[in-house]
Amino acid sequence: MTDKISRFLASAQPETPCLVVDLDVIAGNYHALRHYLPLAEVFYAVKANPAPEVIALLAGLGSSFDTASRPEIEAVLAAGVAPGRISFGNTIKKLKDIAWAYERGVRLFAFDSEAELDKLAEAAPGSKVFCRLLMTCEGAEWPLSRKFGCEADMARALMLKARALGLVPYGLSFHVGSQQTRLDQWDLAIGRAAALFRDLAAEGIALAMLNLGGGLPARYRDDVAPVERYAGAIMQAMTDHFGNDLPQMITEPGRSLVGDSGILETEVVLVSRKSFADDERWVYLDVGKFGGLAETMDEAIKYRLQLVGGGEGPSGPVVLAGPTCDSADILYEKHQYQMPLSLKPGDRVRILSTGAYTTSYAAVNFNGFAPLKAYFV
Ligand SMILES: *Cc1c(COP(=O)(O)O)cnc(C)c1O
Repeated sequence: MTDKISRFLASAQPETPCLVVDLDVIAGNYHALRHYLPLAEVFYAVKANPAPEVIALLAGLGSSFDTASRPEIEAVLAAGVAPGRISFGNTIKKLKDIAWAYERGVRLFAFDSEAELDKLAEAAPGSKVFCRLLMTCEGAEWPLSRKFGCEADMARALMLKARALGLVPYGLSFHVGSQQTRLDQWDLAIGRAAALFRDLAAEGIALAMLNLGGGLPARYRDDVAPVERYAGAIMQAMTDHFGNDLPQMITEPGRSLVGDSGILETEVVLVSRKSFADDERWVYLDVGKFGGLAETMDEAIKYRLQLVGGGEGPSGPVVLAGPTCDSADILYEKHQYQMPLSLKPGDRVRILSTGAYTTSYAAVNFNGFAPLKAYFV
């Protein structure tokens, strides 16, 4: 909770639920990452928080951008960012969106399959392409496994094909999983990538770039190591596996840049029990899974909560839930949260570190994909 946010909440008294973001925190996180990992160019993952204010701030600080859709690219271009600082990093793109991005000057594209490579050759001729490697994402609280990436032998074959198709086989990427706290996961991924660099060099393909993805954690209920530990582990792995011949490095931080910058101010709507004998109370907030807390799915991300006014007296266990009429809209039931016995409707509860993956998930256009249109006939 920063001074700027608490002053804003005290003076503006906004209706809840609302997210308040301190842009200085994002700037500080950006500078820290640049400081501790100076060799890696930062491509901010826009989906974490696509607000124009966040994009403009990072653009001004010199960041580049990892985007997943035409609307995300439009938002970045609208902030005055040159297309050369944009990566179209989604491995699942429509041909017409690739063609559109190419026409706007984007020349860096991700893929992880042969069919996607064919699309790139057709709609973005001569572009730089990088292949995403499959990761197991062990240890990540929000894994990005299975859906993205391909095995190394397939990546190898696809990079050879990229060259044959007239594309520039530019590099490799991976993502170790979001909210990843296991440092060895970067070593594993970098080791795999380096082996493939060597393999392809033997085929006459000198890859230039390694994209280290995102995954650096924000601080939720458990403490996490500071960014310098992650940066140190990454650089150690780079020199262990690449020696003195380091490729150009890219990182795509999302959560670690914006997560800690936001406070979600909420209000208690109801406190109740399911039976006279129950100790456990049900606390319903005015925000839930469908209003921005999608990452509480399977209780994956465990946010820190802070009661406004401190909450005097003894506490007891609660189940926390959102306000909608859907029983999936329960935030925490297995992981125990405690709240004061005096808690009552109207009390305000602050959910900390909610700057990443909240407004974007609540918005009905996550990652730039338009909300579902409805036609009534
Ligand atoms: C979501 C995403 C990121 C950001 O991941 P964080 O864990 O939030 O840092 C980076 N790269 C790609 C390709 C992504 O899809």
